[in-house]
Amino acid sequence: MPVAGIDIGGTTTKLALVGLDGKIEGLRTIPTAPGNAPEFVNRLGVVFHEAGWRSDQVGVAVAGFVSEAHDAVAYNPNLPWLERFPLRKALENALGVPVILEADSNAAALAEWRWGVGCGSGRFLCLTAGTGVGGGMVAGGKLLRYAYEGVGDVGHVIVAPGGPLCSCGGKGCAEALVGANAIAKRFRDAGGAANDLREVIEEAIAGNPLAVRLIEDAGRWLGLALATLANILFPDRIAIAGGLSEAGDLLLDPCRAVFHDNASTFASETARIVKAELGWRATLAGAGASAMLDE
Ligand SMILES: [Zn+2]
Repeated sequence: MPVAGIDIGGTTTKLALVGLDGKIEGLRTIPTAPGNAPEFVNRLGVVFHEAGWRSDQVGVAVAGFVSEAHDAVAYNPNLPWLERFPLRKALENALGVPVILEADSNAAALAEWRWGVGCGSGRFLCLTAGTGVGGGMVAGGKLLRYAYEGVGDVGHVIVAPGGPLCSCGGKGCAEALVGANAIAKRFRDAGGAANDLREVIEEAIAGNPLAVRLIEDAGRWLGLALATLANILFPDRIAIAGGLSEAGDLLLDPCRAVFHDNASTFASETARIVKAELGWRATLAGAGASAMLDE
Protein backbone atom coordinates (compact mmCIF):
# COMPACT_ATOMS: atom_id res chain seq x y z
CA MET A 1 0.00 0.00 0.00
CA PRO A 2 1.33 3.50 -0.77
CA VAL A 3 2.44 5.71 2.12
CA ALA A 4 1.88 9.45 2.43
CA GLY A 5 5.04 11.53 2.37
CA ILE A 6 5.60 15.18 3.24
CA ASP A 7 8.69 17.22 2.30
CA ILE A 8 9.03 20.41 4.37
CA GLY A 9 11.53 22.48 2.38
CA GLY A 10 12.93 25.94 3.06
CA THR A 11 10.29 27.67 0.91
CA THR A 12 7.80 25.01 -0.28
CA THR A 13 6.19 22.00 1.39
CA LYS A 14 5.07 19.06 -0.78
CA LEU A 15 2.64 16.28 0.08
CA ALA A 16 1.96 13.13 -1.96
CA LEU A 17 1.33 9.42 -1.88
CA VAL A 18 4.51 7.40 -2.42
CA GLY A 19 4.16 3.95 -3.98
CA LEU A 20 6.31 0.94 -3.08
CA ASP A 21 8.12 1.60 -6.39
CA GLY A 22 8.89 5.20 -5.34
CA LYS A 23 6.34 6.71 -7.73
CA ILE A 24 4.61 9.89 -6.56
CA GLU A 25 0.87 10.44 -6.93
CA GLY A 26 -1.50 13.28 -6.07
CA LEU A 27 1.14 15.95 -5.45
CA ARG A 28 0.03 18.98 -3.42
CA THR A 29 2.15 21.97 -2.44
CA ILE A 30 1.83 24.75 0.11
CA PRO A 31 4.28 27.53 1.06
CA THR A 32 6.46 26.67 4.07
CA ALA A 33 5.84 30.24 5.33
CA PRO A 34 4.11 31.80 7.44
CA GLY A 35 6.89 31.43 10.01
CA ASN A 36 4.40 30.34 12.64
CA ALA A 37 4.83 26.64 13.44
CA PRO A 38 1.38 25.76 14.90
CA GLU A 39 -0.40 27.62 12.07
CA PHE A 40 1.76 25.89 9.45
CA VAL A 41 1.08 22.42 10.93
CA ASN A 42 -2.68 23.13 11.01
CA ARG A 43 -2.57 24.09 7.34
CA LEU A 44 -0.73 20.84 6.52
CA GLY A 45 -3.42 18.91 8.40
CA VAL A 46 -6.19 20.55 6.37
CA VAL A 47 -4.49 19.76 3.04
CA PHE A 48 -3.77 16.17 4.17
CA HIS A 49 -7.39 15.52 5.17
CA GLU A 50 -8.72 17.14 1.97
CA ALA A 51 -6.61 14.68 -0.03
CA GLY A 52 -8.43 11.80 1.66
CA TRP A 53 -5.40 9.46 1.56
CA ARG A 54 -5.37 6.22 3.51
CA SER A 55 -1.95 5.85 5.13
CA ASP A 56 -1.23 4.04 8.41
CA GLN A 57 1.67 6.36 9.07
CA VAL A 58 3.18 9.38 7.36
CA GLY A 59 6.86 10.01 6.60
CA VAL A 60 7.92 13.64 6.96
CA ALA A 61 11.26 14.95 5.68
CA VAL A 62 12.31 18.33 7.03
CA ALA A 63 15.19 20.57 5.98
CA GLY A 64 17.96 20.58 8.57
CA PHE A 65 18.99 18.15 11.29
CA VAL A 66 16.53 16.34 13.55
CA SER A 67 16.78 15.56 17.25
CA GLU A 68 17.93 12.09 18.33
CA ALA A 69 14.36 11.26 19.34
CA HIS A 70 13.20 12.25 15.83
CA ASP A 71 10.61 14.58 17.34
CA ALA A 72 11.88 18.05 16.39
CA VAL A 73 14.21 20.04 14.13
CA ALA A 74 17.47 20.32 16.06
CA TYR A 75 19.18 22.79 13.75
CA ASN A 76 18.29 24.73 10.63
CA PRO A 77 19.42 28.36 10.25
CA ASN A 78 16.89 28.78 7.38
CA LEU A 79 13.85 27.70 9.44
CA PRO A 80 14.57 29.07 12.94
CA TRP A 81 10.83 29.17 13.74
CA LEU A 82 10.69 25.36 13.45
CA GLU A 83 13.75 24.71 15.64
CA ARG A 84 12.90 22.89 18.88
CA PHE A 85 9.15 23.10 18.13
CA PRO A 86 7.56 19.67 19.01
CA LEU A 87 7.00 19.02 15.31
CA ARG A 88 6.29 15.28 15.34
CA LYS A 89 3.70 15.51 18.12
CA ALA A 90 2.00 18.51 16.49
CA LEU A 91 1.90 16.70 13.13
CA GLU A 92 0.50 13.52 14.70
CA ASN A 93 -2.28 15.60 16.27
CA ALA A 94 -3.02 17.41 13.00
CA LEU A 95 -2.82 14.35 10.69
CA GLY A 96 -4.34 11.82 13.09
CA VAL A 97 -1.72 9.12 12.31
CA PRO A 98 1.80 8.25 13.56
CA VAL A 99 4.57 10.32 11.95
CA ILE A 100 8.17 9.37 11.16
CA LEU A 101 10.34 12.51 11.12
CA GLU A 102 13.52 12.42 9.04
CA ALA A 103 16.16 14.92 7.88
CA ASP A 104 15.69 15.88 4.21
CA SER A 105 19.23 14.95 3.18
CA ASN A 106 18.73 11.47 4.68
CA ALA A 107 15.40 11.11 2.88
CA ALA A 108 16.94 12.04 -0.49
CA ALA A 109 19.83 9.60 0.04
CA LEU A 110 17.42 6.82 0.99
CA ALA A 111 15.23 7.38 -2.09
CA GLU A 112 18.20 7.48 -4.49
CA TRP A 113 19.58 4.31 -2.89
CA ARG A 114 16.26 2.50 -3.04
CA TRP A 115 14.89 3.65 -6.40
CA GLY A 116 17.52 5.77 -8.13
CA VAL A 117 21.20 5.95 -8.95
CA GLY A 118 22.28 4.40 -5.64
CA CYS A 119 20.62 1.02 -6.29
CA GLY A 120 22.95 -1.82 -5.32
CA SER A 121 25.57 0.41 -3.68
CA GLY A 122 27.04 -0.85 -0.40
CA ARG A 123 28.29 2.57 0.74
CA PHE A 124 26.31 5.30 -0.99
CA LEU A 125 26.95 9.00 -0.37
CA CYS A 126 24.33 11.38 -1.78
CA LEU A 127 25.27 15.06 -1.79
CA THR A 128 22.50 17.57 -2.50
CA ALA A 129 23.74 20.95 -3.75
CA GLY A 130 21.16 23.69 -4.09
CA THR A 131 20.69 26.79 -1.94
CA GLY A 132 22.46 24.82 0.78
CA VAL A 133 24.72 21.81 0.43
CA GLY A 134 24.04 18.70 2.51
CA GLY A 135 24.16 14.96 2.28
CA GLY A 136 23.21 11.58 3.58
CA MET A 137 24.86 8.18 3.43
CA VAL A 138 23.39 4.68 3.22
CA ALA A 139 25.88 2.00 4.30
CA GLY A 140 24.91 -1.67 4.40
CA GLY A 141 21.31 -0.71 3.64
CA LYS A 142 21.04 1.64 6.64
CA LEU A 143 21.28 5.40 6.91
CA LEU A 144 24.48 6.38 8.68
CA ARG A 145 23.46 8.23 11.82
CA TYR A 146 26.48 9.78 13.43
CA ALA A 147 25.16 13.00 15.03
CA TYR A 148 21.72 14.63 14.93
CA GLU A 149 20.67 11.54 12.97
CA GLY A 150 22.82 12.41 9.96
CA VAL A 151 26.28 11.66 8.60
CA GLY A 152 27.43 15.19 9.57
CA ASP A 153 27.34 18.55 7.87
CA VAL A 154 29.10 17.23 4.76
CA GLY A 155 28.43 20.36 2.68
CA HIS A 156 30.69 22.27 5.03
CA VAL A 157 33.97 20.56 4.26
CA ILE A 158 36.51 23.38 3.89
CA VAL A 159 37.72 23.69 0.32
CA ALA A 160 39.24 27.21 0.37
CA PRO A 161 41.12 27.97 3.61
CA GLY A 162 40.36 31.55 4.71
CA GLY A 163 37.69 31.74 2.02
CA PRO A 164 34.27 33.45 2.16
CA LEU A 165 32.27 33.42 5.38
CA CYS A 166 29.66 30.65 5.39
CA SER A 167 26.12 30.56 6.84
CA CYS A 168 27.46 28.04 9.40
CA GLY A 169 29.99 30.54 10.78
CA GLY A 170 32.96 28.79 9.17
CA LYS A 171 35.07 30.07 6.29
CA GLY A 172 35.69 28.60 2.85
CA CYS A 173 33.17 25.75 3.18
CA ALA A 174 31.92 24.03 0.03
CA GLU A 175 28.47 25.56 0.62
CA ALA A 176 29.93 29.09 0.78
CA LEU A 177 31.50 28.54 -2.66
CA VAL A 178 29.05 26.34 -4.57
CA GLY A 179 25.73 27.27 -2.91
CA ALA A 180 23.20 28.54 -5.47
CA ASN A 181 23.29 32.15 -4.28
CA ALA A 182 27.10 32.29 -4.24
CA ILE A 183 27.36 31.13 -7.87
CA ALA A 184 24.58 33.47 -9.07
CA LYS A 185 26.24 36.39 -7.26
CA ARG A 186 29.66 35.67 -8.81
CA PHE A 187 28.01 35.58 -12.24
CA ARG A 188 26.34 38.98 -11.70
CA ASP A 189 29.48 40.51 -10.14
CA ALA A 190 31.40 39.57 -13.29
CA GLY A 191 28.80 41.30 -15.50
CA GLY A 192 26.50 38.36 -16.24
CA ALA A 193 22.70 38.67 -16.14
CA ALA A 194 20.92 35.94 -14.14
CA ASN A 195 18.43 35.93 -11.30
CA ASP A 196 19.41 32.55 -9.92
CA LEU A 197 21.54 29.45 -10.34
CA ARG A 198 19.08 27.86 -12.77
CA GLU A 199 19.61 30.76 -15.18
CA VAL A 200 23.41 30.57 -14.80
CA ILE A 201 23.21 26.87 -15.69
CA GLU A 202 21.02 27.67 -18.72
CA GLU A 203 23.65 30.21 -19.84
CA ALA A 204 26.43 27.66 -19.35
CA ILE A 205 24.60 25.01 -21.36
CA ALA A 206 24.06 27.63 -24.11
CA GLY A 207 27.84 28.19 -24.16
CA ASN A 208 28.28 31.49 -22.28
CA PRO A 209 32.03 31.30 -21.43
CA LEU A 210 31.67 33.12 -18.07
CA ALA A 211 28.87 30.80 -16.96
CA VAL A 212 30.85 27.75 -18.14
CA ARG A 213 33.89 28.87 -16.14
CA LEU A 214 31.84 29.41 -12.97
CA ILE A 215 30.17 26.00 -13.24
CA GLU A 216 33.57 24.37 -13.85
CA ASP A 217 34.97 26.19 -10.79
CA ALA A 218 32.04 24.87 -8.75
CA GLY A 219 32.78 21.36 -10.05
CA ARG A 220 36.42 21.64 -8.94
CA TRP A 221 35.45 22.81 -5.42
CA LEU A 222 32.92 20.03 -5.21
CA GLY A 223 35.58 17.51 -6.31
CA LEU A 224 37.87 18.73 -3.55
CA ALA A 225 35.09 18.41 -0.96
CA LEU A 226 34.31 14.89 -2.19
CA ALA A 227 37.98 13.87 -2.05
CA THR A 228 38.09 14.77 1.65
CA LEU A 229 34.76 13.07 2.36
CA ALA A 230 35.73 9.93 0.43
CA ASN A 231 38.98 9.61 2.39
CA ILE A 232 36.87 9.45 5.58
CA LEU A 233 33.70 7.66 4.46
CA PHE A 234 34.98 5.38 1.64
CA PRO A 235 31.79 5.52 -0.45
CA ASP A 236 31.67 3.19 -3.47
CA ARG A 237 29.25 5.55 -5.21
CA ILE A 238 28.68 9.30 -4.83
CA ALA A 239 25.58 10.94 -6.26
CA ILE A 240 25.29 14.67 -6.84
CA ALA A 241 21.70 15.85 -6.49
CA GLY A 242 20.00 19.25 -6.24
CA GLY A 243 19.79 22.27 -8.54
CA LEU A 244 23.54 22.41 -9.25
CA SER A 245 23.52 18.84 -10.61
CA GLU A 246 21.32 20.05 -13.49
CA ALA A 247 24.58 21.32 -15.05
CA GLY A 248 25.39 17.64 -15.75
CA ASP A 249 28.86 16.86 -17.12
CA LEU A 250 29.77 20.57 -17.32
CA LEU A 251 29.93 20.28 -13.52
CA LEU A 252 30.77 16.61 -13.10
CA ASP A 253 33.76 16.34 -15.49
CA PRO A 254 35.93 18.89 -13.60
CA CYS A 255 34.52 17.50 -10.34
CA ARG A 256 35.68 13.97 -11.22
CA ALA A 257 39.08 15.22 -12.44
CA VAL A 258 39.83 17.07 -9.19
CA PHE A 259 38.40 14.22 -7.11
CA HIS A 260 40.61 11.55 -8.68
CA ASP A 261 43.62 13.88 -8.62
CA ASN A 262 43.32 14.62 -4.89
CA ALA A 263 41.64 11.68 -3.14
CA SER A 264 43.71 8.83 -1.72
CA THR A 265 44.41 6.07 -4.24
CA PHE A 266 42.12 3.71 -2.36
CA ALA A 267 39.20 6.18 -2.16
CA SER A 268 39.74 7.24 -5.76
CA GLU A 269 39.70 3.66 -7.04
CA THR A 270 36.66 2.78 -4.93
CA ALA A 271 34.28 5.67 -5.64
CA ARG A 272 32.36 6.59 -8.77
CA ILE A 273 30.71 10.04 -9.08
CA VAL A 274 27.31 10.08 -10.78
CA LYS A 275 24.38 12.46 -11.25
CA ALA A 276 21.34 11.68 -9.10
CA GLU A 277 18.25 10.44 -10.93
CA LEU A 278 15.14 11.37 -8.98
CA GLY A 279 15.39 15.19 -9.09
CA TRP A 280 13.01 17.12 -6.83
CA ARG A 281 11.10 13.87 -6.15
CA ALA A 282 13.96 12.38 -4.14
CA THR A 283 13.22 14.03 -0.79
CA LEU A 284 9.46 13.47 -1.05
CA ALA A 285 9.85 9.83 -2.10
CA GLY A 286 12.42 9.36 0.68
CA ALA A 287 9.97 10.77 3.22
CA GLY A 288 7.57 8.01 2.18
CA ALA A 289 10.40 5.45 2.21
CA SER A 290 11.32 6.30 5.80
CA ALA A 291 7.75 5.51 6.87
CA MET A 292 7.86 2.23 4.92
CA LEU A 293 11.06 1.09 6.64
CA ASP A 294 9.68 2.04 10.05
CA GLU A 295 13.19 2.81 11.32
ZN1 LIG B 1 29.82 26.23 6.31
